[in-house]
Amino acid sequence: MKVYVEAYGCTQNYGEARLMSEALAGQGHTITASEDEADAHVLVTCTVIETTERKMVRRMTELAAHDKPFIVAGCMAAAQRDRVRAIAPKAKILPPRKWPQIVELLDAGTACGDRAADIESQSFGWHDAIVPIAQGCAGRCTYCITRVARGRVASYPISDLVEQVRRHVTRGVREIKLTGQDTGAYGLDMGTSLVHLLRGIDAIPGDFRVRVGMADPLTVYPILDELIDAYGSDKIFKFLHLPVQSGDDSILAAMRREYTVAEFEEIVAAFRRKIPDVTLSTDVIVGFPGETEGQFEATMDLMGRVRPDIVNVTRFSARAGTPAASFTTPGSRLRRSWFISLSLTASGF
Ligand code: SF4
Repeated sequence: MKVYVEAYGCTQNYGEARLMSEALAGQGHTITASEDEADAHVLVTCTVIETTERKMVRRMTELAAHDKPFIVAGCMAAAQRDRVRAIAPKAKILPPRKWPQIVELLDAGTACGDRAADIESQSFGWHDAIVPIAQGCAGRCTYCITRVARGRVASYPISDLVEQVRRHVTRGVREIKLTGQDTGAYGLDMGTSLVHLLRGIDAIPGDFRVRVGMADPLTVYPILDELIDAYGSDKIFKFLHLPVQSGDDSILAAMRREYTVAEFEEIVAAFRRKIPDVTLSTDVIVGFPGETEGQFEATMDLMGRVRPDIVNVTRFSARAGTPAASFTTPGSRLRRSWFISLSLTASGF
């Protein structure tokens, strides 16, 4: 079969889309870039904010209209199954944790999911490798639908991940992206940590670099010193994606982020002391329910103090099934319909 795979969302989702493509190719399918020529379609969905969900609905409708075997994977397949069923009643639904079952879902052979997951990467022309290290997170954020879609943290074993990275390095891949909803939560379910994983990867011989994906202040704080030590390796990019979301402690508490602004600043200061050239990326949500002008200004002040290299700004979007969806007071910036969804560099501040 010629299979068309289309993905949206975070690096983890793209990583899982690649793994699905590799598993299908490993079973003799051809991955095609042509939606029209394909015999089957796979949509790896994201539903992080409302505008993304609208886009997913449009693409789902378009792909379902081909009336060919159609699999809806990714986060909507877990968090909004009923919505998916209503839009594409004939589609097969494949939640993120079950992605290895894609081969069986296409009725194409005998491979079981675990075997599919182990299939060697094919050459699809990707210059880097994405390695999902865990599903889910350890947080309880009131606004986040990902918690509904991906659940509590479930980590893949260090030995498997090290072996995956080793295989990529042997194939000549030079850049490896470790991804997860919160890489700092890696190992909490298995009595290990991101630090142990990084040390295991560091021991792999070869000329390659690893980029560590987003890690929450909540989970970085307890492992801060060891993590900074692990970042000392030449094989780890000096890149820290540490989403703060707000510069006001009471908004952080309403978001249930479970750290304070001071702790975020402490982490940044500790990294910069040991690794002065570290690139800092952070995320901010504007217009969280109840956010006042003063609390918004506190976030702006924090950005001015910390001066991250990258700031990803997102307008608050109520997601069905999350506690924040029932918070009734809109944030002042939303009341003024101030729409923001862009990335700024620190030079803009
Ligand atoms: S984990 Fe979040 S950002 Fe990633 S695909 Fe799912 S909803 Fe989108």
